[in-house]
Amino acid sequence: MAEKFAVFLDRDGTINEDTGYIDSPEKLVIIRGASDAIKKLNENEFGVIVISNQSGVGRGYFSKEAAEDVNKKLVKILNKGGAHIDGIYYCPHHPDDNCDCRKPRTGLIEMAKGDLNLDIKKSYVVGDKVSDIELAMNAGAKAILVLTGRGTDERNRLIRQPHYIASNLKEAVEWIIKDSDACA
Ligand SMILES: [Mg+2]
Ligand SMILES: [Zn+2]
Repeated sequence: MAEKFAVFLDRDGTINEDTGYIDSPEKLVIIRGASDAIKKLNENEFGVIVISNQSGVGRGYFSKEAAEDVNKKLVKILNKGGAHIDGIYYCPHHPDDNCDCRKPRTGLIEMAKGDLNLDIKKSYVVGDKVSDIELAMNAGAKAILVLTGRGTDERNRLIRQPHYIASNLKEAVEWIIKDSDACA
């Protein structure tokens, strides 16, 4: 089977509002246009994978179960909006744990690649933080910074320049579809 191209989406600040540590499903607020944007990726046959740092677990602020409840609710809301998620992966560790999966390390992408047969070089990472941009660079994918969430502040801290800066996920997806057509 041919390898699939994927779009890796950060969660907080990219799909839903970053309201601090999100420890319960009630705190999820989806950013306007996010469901439609993901739907568009589905229609264009990209794998859509959510990858998220949830150090609140490692810090003892909330449990793994709570983190997974939030993820389940997110998928449910997106499904209601007609959008499909192919996989959702998160790092539960404390930054001091030096794990391989905390972004900008590539462990979450490696996991998804193993599970879903993905071509990372032709894939994209969309996120609102420097760690998302660095993750893309470290993995050899294309990087898109969104200016939702922490994006406006993080833009001033960039280490490497992303391939594109989008005002939100909707605009990021429009750029991805054009870019992948141009590269085909
Ligand atoms: Mg984020
Ligand atoms: Zn980790």
